[in-house]
Amino acid sequence: MKHGKAIFRGRFLNRGLIIGVICFRESGAEQKFKEISNAYEVLADNEKKSLYDKYGEAGLKGADMGMGDFNNPFDLFESLFEGMGGMGGTRGARNRPMQGDDEGYNLVLNFKDAIFGVEKDIEVTRLESCGTCNGSGAKPGTKTRKCRTCGGQGQVVSSARTPLGVFQQVMTCSTCDGTGEYSTPCSTCNGDGCVRKTKKISLKVPPGVDSGSRLRVRSEGNAGRRGGPPGDLYVFIEVRSDPVLKREGTNILYDCKVSYIDAILGTTMNVPTVDGSIDLKIPAGTQPGSTLVMAKKGVPYLGKQNNRGDQLVRVQVEIPKRLSSEERKLIEELADLNKSKTANSRR
Ligand SMILES: [Zn+2]
Ligand SMILES: [Zn+2]
Repeated sequence: MKHGKAIFRGRFLNRGLIIGVICFRESGAEQKFKEISNAYEVLADNEKKSLYDKYGEAGLKGADMGMGDFNNPFDLFESLFEGMGGMGGTRGARNRPMQGDDEGYNLVLNFKDAIFGVEKDIEVTRLESCGTCNGSGAKPGTKTRKCRTCGGQGQVVSSARTPLGVFQQVMTCSTCDGTGEYSTPCSTCNGDGCVRKTKKISLKVPPGVDSGSRLRVRSEGNAGRRGGPPGDLYVFIEVRSDPVLKREGTNILYDCKVSYIDAILGTTMNVPTVDGSIDLKIPAGTQPGSTLVMAKKGVPYLGKQNNRGDQLVRVQVEIPKRLSSEERKLIEELADLNKSKTANSRR
């Protein structure tokens, strides 16, 4: 990732998951992504910690502000006025370019693909700018006229006579949706300026993602209105489970069964890992329920591929329920040996 000013935009959900993105902005010109496959950002649970490590309280506080990025107080004001249905808003605000909506996509990954990363072609259906009218919504060759309903004001005044007097109310003109203009609608998009289209996107999923991670693909959401920028595409990740290996953050958990004899004498066992089967040494005298660590055989840390978690192997010692007469004899001998040993030590 490029160096530059990092701004966190997001919020905490009930489950403690951070939903949001970290946008890295290069000082100076806005960074443009050439390769769509590289245009993603990712944030998972463990990023919360690194966010704190890097930026301290301020980094996390920024996260509480919600999805809005109100660095400029005027942005907040304008948004408020827009939220109030144009009350106090100007025609200029109505005509202002609007950013397109974000689009979501649910991606299900195999256990190993999430660990080592994968390239996926996904098909996303979203609004694209209409090619016929170039996104204007007006039929090509026709001219935009002043709205007749509101006379180009974008607002209409309605009066209601009540026993208390005459009440006047200013409302947004419904004919022109407050723009003050009217045009013959484009026949391709019915005047929307946008059409629904399906696009194939090549997505590079980084190693270490988990269920609940989300990737942001910049500018691949829905097209903006009136020349506004498009929204972003958010890819929500779900990871399929593995029949034998369990994932816990960056660690892999595995239960292995060892006979009581092997636990006492020690042995070597072939153990499945995400890197394939590997021999694991079970030391002599291994206790039931103890955990053996296979270092660096776990999941790569997000954004730090060279750092990996461990595989933790929990040893279950199996005690036989039935013994052959020969085995029984040997165990009894062992018991006698043990008795005399304790007796000797008591003396
Ligand atoms: Zn059109
Ligand atoms: Zn109007």
